[in-house]
Amino acid sequence: MKDIHEGDCGNHTGDRASFSKILRTGYFWPTKRRDAMSYSQRCDACQRHTNILHQPAEPLHLIVSSWTFMKWGMDIVGKLPKAPGGKMFMLAMTDYFSKWIKAEAFVQVREKEVISFIKRNILTRFGIPAEITCDNGSQFIGKRTTKFCESWGIKMITSTPVHPQANGQAESSNKIIINNLKKKLGSKKGKWAEELPFVLWADRTTTKNATGQFPFSLVYGSEAVLPTEMVVPTARSSLQNLESNKEILSEDLDTIDELRDIARIWMATYQQKIAKSYNKNIRLRRFQVGDLVLINAFQNTTNPADGKLAPKWEGPYKIESEAGKGAYKLTNMEGEPLLRSWNAIHLKLYFI
Ligand SMILES: [Zn+2]
Repeated sequence: MKDIHEGDCGNHTGDRASFSKILRTGYFWPTKRRDAMSYSQRCDACQRHTNILHQPAEPLHLIVSSWTFMKWGMDIVGKLPKAPGGKMFMLAMTDYFSKWIKAEAFVQVREKEVISFIKRNILTRFGIPAEITCDNGSQFIGKRTTKFCESWGIKMITSTPVHPQANGQAESSNKIIINNLKKKLGSKKGKWAEELPFVLWADRTTTKNATGQFPFSLVYGSEAVLPTEMVVPTARSSLQNLESNKEILSEDLDTIDELRDIARIWMATYQQKIAKSYNKNIRLRRFQVGDLVLINAFQNTTNPADGKLAPKWEGPYKIESEAGKGAYKLTNMEGEPLLRSWNAIHLKLYFI
């Protein structure tokens, strides 16, 4: 069986192919089918080089936020083309409810920059959030950031990015920002940092699929006056005076709760739709404490896979505990814990 699977005429073929090869040779023993299956299942090389599964391993766990600025998603995009000052990274945070995006350009994003960003852009503007969802980047899960969040009572929820809607808003927001930057910049790619505030502003006054509203209206309760209205006056911008403006604004504030209610209902429907199509494709993969697993080598940034011939999976590691819905804490074979937690989609069982 060893020779047929991996010897001179073997090609590490799967269980069925190995089995039929054995049949053709004329060998017979009563458990040959089961043995061939279990042999190729346990072959180390086969396990390391087998294809990465892309189907979700868990049903979609929706992140629901029913109030502004309670839950934020945080993510880093980079490397981007070098902007003046050597800025190549963008750190972005998105409010789960209003979809308000705050983003800045950085030379590098370490714990220091993450903490200062949260302080300047979130704490002192929108108040203390209850939760921040992020991936397992070292600047998010390091000691200093963890300590900072603990001191403000902010819960950090880490999960490996799997699906923009599943992991959170941050990832799909990044896609929106990057796409809009691309369209705006054309060939002047180095100007992205300069254009960023305008792209963010435009996004805040764009209807979001998830809420059916502008982020601006959900936050301030009124419609923003767009620069266009200064050039081509609208009734609102040309007829307003201080008195009527005050009146309209207070009416807007009276109706902001209603607007947010409408957005909440819209969001619930929208998320249900997304969950329905996502959950069609699941191949449930759940692991038990003590299971041996391999990690998708492309996701393991500490050990980047080099070239086409590199194994797709590496390990084995041991499941230490469940870190959250569909995510696990791992240890290496010596029992030392890995820093980040791993989502089931990036793991597969290892057989010995
Ligand atoms: Zn094999």
